[in-house]
Amino acid sequence: MMEDGIIVKALSGFYYVKTADGVVACKARGRFRLDGTSPLVGDRVSVSLDPDGTGRVDGIHERRNFFIRPAVANTDCLVFVAAAVNPVTDPFLIDRVAVIAEAADCGVLVCVNKCDLDPGDGLATAYAKTGYPVVRTSAATGQGLAALRQALAGRVCAFTGNSGVGKSSLLNALCPALSLQTGEVSERLGRGRHTTRHVELFDLGGETYAADTPGFASFDVEMVNAVEKDELQFCFPEFQPYIGRCRFDDCAHLREPGCAVTAAVAAGDVAQSRYDSYVRLYDLSARHKSWEDKK
Ligand code: GDP
Ligand code: ZN
Repeated sequence: MMEDGIIVKALSGFYYVKTADGVVACKARGRFRLDGTSPLVGDRVSVSLDPDGTGRVDGIHERRNFFIRPAVANTDCLVFVAAAVNPVTDPFLIDRVAVIAEAADCGVLVCVNKCDLDPGDGLATAYAKTGYPVVRTSAATGQGLAALRQALAGRVCAFTGNSGVGKSSLLNALCPALSLQTGEVSERLGRGRHTTRHVELFDLGGETYAADTPGFASFDVEMVNAVEKDELQFCFPEFQPYIGRCRFDDCAHLREPGCAVTAAVAAGDVAQSRYDSYVRLYDLSARHKSWEDKK
């Protein structure tokens, strides 16, 4: 019998595929190893079920996108969990991950958590100007959880953000059956939590899945460096109305006269912190390029 499903977990040679009949443990067909595309968590697959209840992954449907670290396919929305207090999120972290998401045609949502302690007005204002949805939450009081659930509905989401902002707490609040371990940042140091954990999609019901992927924040620096400096401007959605309106056709929006992007920053239509991240990423990309050329 054949069925379609989504891989929610990969562990010890088995793929766990959520189908209409529940989760089935599957082996992959040998040919995936031969042609070099191995199934990833998040892949939509067709499986054949054996009478004994085990299955085999027979085919991988076309992917919307995939990331290597964390290894996950078909992410619809990258949820950056941030906080304005304990710990304070550096907006550059958000912007670096948002560029990776944009380059992969993946949506971005900014979740300002710990609003019971600080409403995070600075973050909320800056990201409202990007056009990305911004949801303010408190995993402690439950504030904003209904809005977050609604914003994620029907999508495969990857939760990322700096350690301690409340990713695990939010996932637990969205899906109480999870009981992920939460704790203070200091308790975790040295445990290698980020390096050893496998990616798993948590089923939040209604075709909504969420993965805890702290690795985006710490590992995928090379991915953002791989975005060409000239392409970076297209990874900032709020720049788009101004691109093509600068005095020079090849304006990099750095210090050129008559730049429509820097004018929008001065007018307050683009957040200064977002523009600063652009300049910083541009510089990193330019340096990465010259290093690649010298190799
Ligand atoms: P993670 O590293 O991002 O997964 O963060 P955790 O979920 O482990 O949370 C880190 C700490 O912050 C824990 O002590 C949580 O109880 C606390 N925390 C998480 N969310 C909130 C919140 O919305 N408000 C408050 N006051 N504390 C929170
Ligand atoms: Zn310009």
